[in-house]
Amino acid sequence: MAERNMDPRKTPMPAQPAEVRRHNFQEVALGYTREMAVNEAKRCLQCKNHPCISACPVCIDIPGFIACVAQDDLEGAFAVLSASSALPAVCGRVCPQESQCEGVCVRGIKGESVGIGRLERFVADWHREHSHGKPEKPVANGHRVAVIGAGPSGLTCAGDLAKLGYGVTVFEALHLAGGVLVYGIPEFRLPKAIVQQEIDSLRALGVTIQTDVVIGKTLTVDELFDMGFEAAFIGSGAGLPRFMGIPGESLKGVYSANEYLTRINLMKAYEPGSATPIRKSRSVAVVGGGNVAMDAARCAMRMGAEQVYIVYRRGMAELPARLEEVEHAQEEGIVFHTLVNPVEVLGDEKGWVTGIRCVEMTLGEPDQSGRRRPVVKEGSEFTLDVDTVIIAIGTQPNPLLRQTTEGLETDRHGCIITNGDDGLTTRPNVYAGGDAVTGAATVILAMGAGKRAASAIHRSLSK
Ligand SMILES: Cc1cc2nc3c(=O)[nH]c(=O)nc-3n(C[C@H](O)[C@H](O)[C@H](O)COP(=O)(O)OP(=O)(O)OC[C@H]3O[C@@H](n4cnc5c(N)ncnc54)[C@H](O)[C@@H]3O)c2cc1C
Ligand code: SF4
Repeated sequence: MAERNMDPRKTPMPAQPAEVRRHNFQEVALGYTREMAVNEAKRCLQCKNHPCISACPVCIDIPGFIACVAQDDLEGAFAVLSASSALPAVCGRVCPQESQCEGVCVRGIKGESVGIGRLERFVADWHREHSHGKPEKPVANGHRVAVIGAGPSGLTCAGDLAKLGYGVTVFEALHLAGGVLVYGIPEFRLPKAIVQQEIDSLRALGVTIQTDVVIGKTLTVDELFDMGFEAAFIGSGAGLPRFMGIPGESLKGVYSANEYLTRINLMKAYEPGSATPIRKSRSVAVVGGGNVAMDAARCAMRMGAEQVYIVYRRGMAELPARLEEVEHAQEEGIVFHTLVNPVEVLGDEKGWVTGIRCVEMTLGEPDQSGRRRPVVKEGSEFTLDVDTVIIAIGTQPNPLLRQTTEGLETDRHGCIITNGDDGLTTRPNVYAGGDAVTGAATVILAMGAGKRAASAIHRSLSK
């Protein structure tokens, strides 16, 4: 048994200094060295009842992989991790660990939890840098499955089915596979080379990825079955942005976070001569408090804005974004106007944004979601002087697939209705999972849904 490290604090994560990183798109957190990882792994108590496992949406054997790291057995650690997680390098970077595994870690009672996410990231990165073998192509079982959408849910479903010998084709609307991992989450949080490598290994397993194919327009679900696919998995996400419905939202200089981030991450709007450029902003208000809002604000800072504000109608304690992203945003100089709600976007005579009129809020009684309802403070109006407004108040699934697929039912939020765990929709042999079913959620939940649907498809087709 490795000697235990009883330091109450996590081994610090090396990072680019805030002053430097706010001007570049390179990764902020630099990752543990091997020594740091072993040192941190020795903080794990190997608890008998291991609450961390139950709090992980895909039940990774967390003490198991950490025990391997503590003994410097990194190949063993990767084997434990990859038994439950298809994208550990991604999850180690973007999972909200503080509200999952790390939130219940026993070391967190008298100090800081074990840095489970940091260790997951270290092991996955180490494996990527040191393993050069390609996965073996499984023997084909003769069945074909179509996957709609190349985000985490679709890619996980495709990978699991390909390993079982299915002929899998993924149809992706955009010109690059990866879903939100490539068009939403910025390079400084999740380098695109990591996502690309995961996609390359799927291709090596025999998965075909057809980009620039919009199911519901280029081809319909019915046509996929006519082409010989025996089952389909819909992992089309929730990419349709919501707006506030306040006056001035159609002024020039108002973006949905989705459009703003896609222009920057996917279309490289920061490069001169980009096909889809973006406004050079001086002062930016981002409305919302989730990961999407933090990403948009931190991108705006890196695009050269002098002032970037987060405008959020609840308090700091209620911000839904990952804690680390909030801390990083604050270090980078982003100003948080919490308990503030916009009521109008203001513009000049040429239709360009000049400001945003806001009211202050207080928190009242809890609403249906259990969170305290924001209430307007009388006579508290004020104006923020900005030339760009980015709306990041949530997204919902695009209605295209429901509109073009007979028998596919959705709920009143546009989310596809399934039978629960298996992901079977109201249309026979059509499964769904990820944000298209739950509404905007997390990478790990999307992956979990893709995994469960893959095993349900396998059970059904191998009958
Ligand atoms: C900016 C941003 C930051 C985020 N940060 C985090 C984070 O830090 N941690 C975290 O856990 N989660 C985060 N999330 C949420 C997370 O990324 C999503 O929950 C997850 O990506 C959902 O996966 P998915 O596979 O369901 O859908 P998506 O990732 O949305 O992928 C769906 C794919 O389907 C394609 N598609 C859609 N319609 C069609 C069609 N008709 N035909 C073909 N293809 C189609 C889309 O182009 C897309 O590529 C973030 C989301 C955003 C937007
Ligand atoms: S709860 Fe924390 S200390 Fe206990 S096994 Fe899990 S990671 Fe280790």
